[in-house]
Amino acid sequence: ENRLLSSESTLEDQGIEKSIRPSDLEHYIGQEAIKKNLKIFIKAAKGRNEPLDHVLLYGPPGLGKTTLAMIIAAEMGAGIRTTSGPALERPGDLAAVLSSLEPGDVLFIDEIHRLSRHVEEILYPAMEDFCMDIIVGKDDTAHSVRLNLPPFTLVGATTRAGYLSPPLRDRFGVINRLQYYSPAELSLIVKRTASVLDAKIDGEACDEISRRSRGTPRIANRLLRRIRDFAQVEMGGVIDRNAARIGLSRLQVDEMGLDRVDHQLLMGIISKFGGGPVGLDTIAAAIGEERHTIEDVYEPYLLQIGFMQRTPRGRVVTDHAYKHFNMEKGG
Ligand code: ADP
Repeated sequence: ENRLLSSESTLEDQGIEKSIRPSDLEHYIGQEAIKKNLKIFIKAAKGRNEPLDHVLLYGPPGLGKTTLAMIIAAEMGAGIRTTSGPALERPGDLAAVLSSLEPGDVLFIDEIHRLSRHVEEILYPAMEDFCMDIIVGKDDTAHSVRLNLPPFTLVGATTRAGYLSPPLRDRFGVINRLQYYSPAELSLIVKRTASVLDAKIDGEACDEISRRSRGTPRIANRLLRRIRDFAQVEMGGVIDRNAARIGLSRLQVDEMGLDRVDHQLLMGIISKFGGGPVGLDTIAAAIGEERHTIEDVYEPYLLQIGFMQRTPRGRVVTDHAYKHFNMEKGG
């Protein structure tokens, strides 16, 4: 099932995101601390005529890691090669990518925590000394040959820095954690996307959508596209506050930006486990989901808005959440 409020990208997102991505730092909204530092690092590297240090970006899906990688390349005036941890199955896959790099290129590896150890080991000397050791010959004549690579910048993205092996993490000079966006920042993103899509929207509608987008640009942009459909077919084309509210309720997104999946998760913990504490594996079994999906996709936003808490004895649904459902704890 494709979940409307999932922060993970769908094929539809990937098609449209190409055209709505900001292409320079100036149009990349929010993440001010990261942008401020990156501007300096980029300027310094360019001044020395060197590639930028390797950059690790981490944070939940949909917050702009891929976009930022592309912007880094653009700001450096460099080319970019894009791949991902799961796509680099064997050491040879990575070797092929590395040996095709041009001097100064950015190599973007998404989901870098999913590299296998053998592949990762190719990356160490490549990151440190811009070289790789490859084995040539067979059996008795097998020996390793060192190949020089052009200087490049690795930009790695992962949902959590904790998933990375320490030796890999240590080889990044710049480590940035992306934050959820404020409603005001998301509202600017919605406004910008609407203008790229040539959709008519007013400020109140931008605010309404951004309040319910879970701090995540990907979700804000997706809700905007669906609401535009309602507005176009049923409401005369302009997205105002009323159109946004009607659209959001038709999409079953509530005032806090929660959907049916969130409701099922929270109500499941309330009705089956008295609101917790209950272990993640028990929750996973009870609602028929995988543990890591709950951990990476469902719960970060619920923790962020204080509807759920992590305790040593398991997950607990908070008073805030009970109040949201008009329920009383223990009642
Ligand atoms: P991630 O790689 O973290 O999953 P993406 O970089 O693919 O996220 O971003 C998802 C979408 O959200 C992109 O299409 C982009 O248009 C939008 N987006 C993300 N961050 C920003 C931002 N800071 N400013 C404007 N748009 C953004």
